[in-house]
Amino acid sequence: MILTHGALRPYPSCLTRLSRLTRHLNLSFPNKNPFSISVSRYASSQFSPILSVSHRHSISCVQKGDQVSVEQPEIIFMGTGTSEGIPRVSCLTDPLKKCPVCAKAVEPGNKNRRLNTSILIRFPKPSGTCNILIDAGKFFYQSALRWFPTYGIRTIDAVVITHSHADAIGGLDDLRDWTNNVQPHIPIYVAERDFEVMKKTHYYLVDTSVVTPGAAVSELQFDIIHEKPFIVHDLKFTPLPVWHGRNYRSLGFRFGNVCYISDVSEIPDETYPLLRDCEILIMDALRPDRSSSTHFGLPKALEEVRKIKPKRTLFTGMMHLMDHEKVNEGLLKLMETEGLDVQLSYDGLRVPINL
Ligand SMILES: [Zn+2]
Ligand SMILES: [Zn+2]
Repeated sequence: MILTHGALRPYPSCLTRLSRLTRHLNLSFPNKNPFSISVSRYASSQFSPILSVSHRHSISCVQKGDQVSVEQPEIIFMGTGTSEGIPRVSCLTDPLKKCPVCAKAVEPGNKNRRLNTSILIRFPKPSGTCNILIDAGKFFYQSALRWFPTYGIRTIDAVVITHSHADAIGGLDDLRDWTNNVQPHIPIYVAERDFEVMKKTHYYLVDTSVVTPGAAVSELQFDIIHEKPFIVHDLKFTPLPVWHGRNYRSLGFRFGNVCYISDVSEIPDETYPLLRDCEILIMDALRPDRSSSTHFGLPKALEEVRKIKPKRTLFTGMMHLMDHEKVNEGLLKLMETEGLDVQLSYDGLRVPINL
């Protein structure tokens, strides 16, 4: 595993900051599992044509302050849990029974502690380090509070939206801290149907003319995506359309040879070819037993893994019935019996990738 943190921008206090961040990185790197893959840059050209979405403003990666430069692209799991978060408050206040997973999740650093499902893709560009977030849900602030300072993440260079449920877009308002204090604006890549929802849920961010003069809100630029590949900061994203409940569409995304599908109850036939030769699959697995009407359960998710055949799978979107250690112990056995490399992810997990 290679993770290099290079020089910070020459800010006055950068030496102090560098030493602090270096310490953070050395001490808090949670992914001790050696892992390396080799994939071609920006994957193959099997998905064409590439749709370049229109940019209303030119965008470039911003780099300043405490941002750490990276040489190795990576993903950071900002959250791996369900909408209500884990631990559930209702479990902690239940006078009749103790929920074993939520009781453990209270402990700081416990891997059962999970916020809304989201990842951050961090990769180097000649102009600086780029941070692309997939989804900003209700708990985005808490996720960012936990991981941005720890891993030296300063800017949010774009947000790509999977769908418009609250645990995927509920944090859009929190982006005001970045557009007020870090960078002028944030591009949001969103499907038309989800943008229509945002017009209602976040009407004042879509049409800032309704905001009281002088009041500061997130400065967001909405770029409409379709079910065709698009480019964000030179990185190609291929949408992976899936069903997330009956008649409700959600998007997974492929970037490099990583496929990310966070909210899925059924993969349509036409999406399977897009998952071919996937090296890292990140997939929804809500609970250990059955699927729900909107999410894969673990047995169904494993069935899909056997069909898709990625080199490595990390599950996400786990509810409180998924005990991190216990489930992972069971999954580990699949390596011996079937050669399946499958594990649950956890908040803060970093995985090096090749783009
Ligand atoms: Zn619980
Ligand atoms: Zn959802």
